[in-house]
Amino acid sequence: MPIYEYECRACKAVFQALILNIDEEGDLACPKCNGRKLKRLISLAFYHTSESDRLASYDPRAQKEDSFYRDSRNIGLHAKWRAKQMGVDLGKSFEEKLDRIRTDPSSVIKDSE
Ligand SMILES: [Zn+2]
Repeated sequence: MPIYEYECRACKAVFQALILNIDEEGDLACPKCNGRKLKRLISLAFYHTSESDRLASYDPRAQKEDSFYRDSRNIGLHAKWRAKQMGVDLGKSFEEKLDRIRTDPSSVIKDSE
């Protein structure tokens, strides 16, 4: 579900909007002051989609928001995307390592010491 979060440039109100078609973005207005100058903050879609969905919508050339990097589930997404492009199977051990990095980064660091 493509839910986006916006900040009104006029009154700094933050609100969420469900955008089914990106063209609808131009019709959005701030619910507080009805301002039209909005800044998209994060795509909440990332939080509601499966990994394969995120992989499918991943664009390596797109500029990433800070939230993209803060979401630990995006760790390794680029590597996976590359592997998929090249038709390479990263294997089960990669998946397991990735899971550990995502859920408990310190355990991986401890292992490599
Ligand atoms: Zn506003």
